[in-house]
Amino acid sequence: MNDSLDLSIEKAISLIKESSNIYIASHVQPDGDNIGSILALGMAIKKMNKDVNILKVDEVPSDYRFLPNVELIKEYEIPSTVDLFIALDSSDMNRLGLGKEFALKAEKIINIDHHITNDKFGDINIISDSSGATGEIVYQVIKKMNVDIDRYIATCLYTAISTDTGSFMYSNTTYSTHMIIAELMKTGIDINDINVNLYQSRSIERTRLFINSLNNLELHLDGKIGIVYVTQEMLRANNAKLEDTEGIVSFIRDIDSVEVACLLKEIKEDEVKVSLRSKRNIDVAKISSRYNGGGHMRAAGCTINATIEEAKMSILNEIEMAFR
Ligand code: AMP
Ligand code: MN
Ligand code: MN
Repeated sequence: MNDSLDLSIEKAISLIKESSNIYIASHVQPDGDNIGSILALGMAIKKMNKDVNILKVDEVPSDYRFLPNVELIKEYEIPSTVDLFIALDSSDMNRLGLGKEFALKAEKIINIDHHITNDKFGDINIISDSSGATGEIVYQVIKKMNVDIDRYIATCLYTAISTDTGSFMYSNTTYSTHMIIAELMKTGIDINDINVNLYQSRSIERTRLFINSLNNLELHLDGKIGIVYVTQEMLRANNAKLEDTEGIVSFIRDIDSVEVACLLKEIKEDEVKVSLRSKRNIDVAKISSRYNGGGHMRAAGCTINATIEEAKMSILNEIEMAFR
């Protein structure tokens, strides 16, 4: 943590202490880092005897429904006033979905994130792109709040950090990541139980969708690019949901020749969500930014308003250009 980050954290804590009517929100299609971070920070603020509303902007994927206090994530009517809005793991306001309506009403916004593409939309921005997960920054914030990190908070932070670092395997895993995890483990959390919930509880529907999607795998540029798609029809045929695409893109990335993996998810007829992963030197956040998306060097995403075929042609072209 550098000095300016420390200062922003202190300012954020003062602001939280002064505010009532506080909202925390997830981003659209929330992931483990996002759900773990909003729950941990929400619980910590409650421990300061402050009321806080944790806004649901999208379904919580089944992977994270085991988390303690997950039922605190609820739908709320858009209020007439909001004192403080806290965004976590969101690089820009459009990532907030419905939460954006709440953010626009807010007197003050705190923006806590680790995306290099973050556009600093908050009044207070706590941005650390060297952090493996937003959960790592939330850990620092909670430490400074002087709130006791109990097993519930620790379980949520462990989940946030483990999921965004590929179980501590990706290059965003640092010395500090492991130090934080060591501190969390001191609380007595059951990491086997957390890991079974996170990584060894795949439904048969998800498994079938996975097999189905591999059938349309295409390799390009001497196998350096791997691309697969999932259509609405494939979801229906396998009785699966969009969240069940989790794990497909990383599996494609793990093919030996592949440097960039791409998954195209048909949301509607002319809307495709793209997930990109890279293994070594290609910056997929840069590719995503051409479509107003973002993310990290080795994991990024965007939305393309086109049919799945058109989206595939377009993104394939952009990925190929990145190799030049
Ligand atoms: P995903 O492929 O959805 O798992 O996302 C991979 C990474 O890219 C995550 O860090 C996301 O936060 C980020 N990301 C995904 N979609 C977008 C988007 N439309 N805009 C900005 N960042 C995104
Ligand atoms: Mn996220
Ligand atoms: Mn994250």
